[in-house]
Amino acid sequence: MASAEDSMTRSREKLRALDAVRKRRLIVAIADRIIAHVDELTALDAAIGDGDHGHNMRRGFEAVLQDLDALEAMGLSDLFKAIGTKLVMKVGGASGPLYGTLFLALGKALPDEPSREEAAAAFAAAIVAVRARGKSEQGQKTMLDVLIPSCESFSSGSNLAGVKETAALAADATAPMRATRGRASFLGERSIGHVDPGARSSSLMIAALCDELRKA
Ligand code: ADP
Ligand code: MG
Repeated sequence: MASAEDSMTRSREKLRALDAVRKRRLIVAIADRIIAHVDELTALDAAIGDGDHGHNMRRGFEAVLQDLDALEAMGLSDLFKAIGTKLVMKVGGASGPLYGTLFLALGKALPDEPSREEAAAAFAAAIVAVRARGKSEQGQKTMLDVLIPSCESFSSGSNLAGVKETAALAADATAPMRATRGRASFLGERSIGHVDPGARSSSLMIAALCDELRKA
């Protein structure tokens, strides 16, 4: 059985460095996953918001895809900051500044060749930034209800398949919640029974990230 010391040592090891090809594939994987689910995100937002979340996200990630050549040449830190800046400019709605903040804060906190521990710390720092920006907390039926448990799963040593599973379950678990932040909160009780669109887009991005990182 692996000792706690073994797992500490492992968590300080550098994650496998991403070369330009893998960085490009990672960005494309996340963007394509969102773009493939635009209609679903739109339908979720039509049920408890104003129906623009799919289009907002597509606009942002199409803009990101236009910058692939520049992005793949960047270190991880600058790459995340550049994606964050793009999302702030292009996504719009409430989710644009929030996802922009998530990626910008990840970029600020990530070294170019992070260890697992450093990657987990950067994810946690980015969530703190989103909470501050959104004045929101876990349990309010937002993207945070996926981001926080996914970060906890990664930080506690789950493998990538486990983190992906946590994110998917957490998105589904927003359905019975009553929204108390964002546009869906205007519906009060009527927000109950629908998955939150931002929770779903977060779980899609995490799934794409995990699937891509698991590839050799
Ligand atoms: P808008 O609500 O302005 O139309 P979007 O439809 O693009 O923007 O995004 C809606 C999503 O944004 C929600 O489903 C929710 O997950 C997320 N969201 C909204 N407000 C907040 C907030 N204050 N904190 C965290 N997430 C939020
Ligand atoms: Mg909306």
